[in-house]
Amino acid sequence: MIEDQLIFADWNAPSTVVALSTTRKGGSSAAPYASFNVGAHVGDELARVDANRAILQSELPPDLRWQWLDQVHGADVLEVVAPGSTLTADGLLTREKNLICCVQTADCLPVFVAALDGTEVAMTHAGWKGLASGVIENTIWAMENSGEDLAVWLGPAIASCHFEVGAEVRECFLAAETSESSQHELERCFSPAKSHGKFMADLYGIARIKLSRLGISYSNISGGTHCTYCDEDRFFSYRRDGVTGRMLNAIYIEG
Ligand SMILES: [Zn+2]
Repeated sequence: MIEDQLIFADWNAPSTVVALSTTRKGGSSAAPYASFNVGAHVGDELARVDANRAILQSELPPDLRWQWLDQVHGADVLEVVAPGSTLTADGLLTREKNLICCVQTADCLPVFVAALDGTEVAMTHAGWKGLASGVIENTIWAMENSGEDLAVWLGPAIASCHFEVGAEVRECFLAAETSESSQHELERCFSPAKSHGKFMADLYGIARIKLSRLGISYSNISGGTHCTYCDEDRFFSYRRDGVTGRMLNAIYIEG
């Protein structure tokens, strides 16, 4: 693997939990999927996707068991005991060692969760629809540990500098709030865009608010520093390029 090809989580989880995001670097796919595309559903040649996945597998422990996910911008989170064929949901959770949970993204927010004692991990795909439908809440509720015993890393996603949304998206979030103060808290994640009636949405900010409401202290939430749209050298971005590849976001407990 080339240097800087993988981004490892910088967080408060124990070192027995491995959490990483791939970048677009160091793979075999041609434009517009150049070069490290792991998505088999985006129009790239499957042989190249397989070759890219094989490169990653060769860099990680050989006894890892892989669980892939078919994401649908919903809020379902599934617990995996024994990995099998691709599941349909937007979050995976496991308490098994050496079982790697995989989520693919190209702008949507990958949310990595680990128990501070290293006994369980979860990997969630959170675009705005998933965030609005409760995928983060469902992930945390599915865990045995409560909020104060969890650490979260927010992987590379499109940041508020580039994530323009219509007023209906903002409304969708605000309408779900039950008090004026909680509305105001979330309102800060939507700043007026240059285009009239549009807003720049902060997925990282929305996720942090939701996580903190679930009992996770801000000191245990890290990441959220990248913008997939801005950093063309390292990241695929659906908003920027339309037809493009996918990064892999994966988490496992070392056996
Ligand atoms: Zn940006």
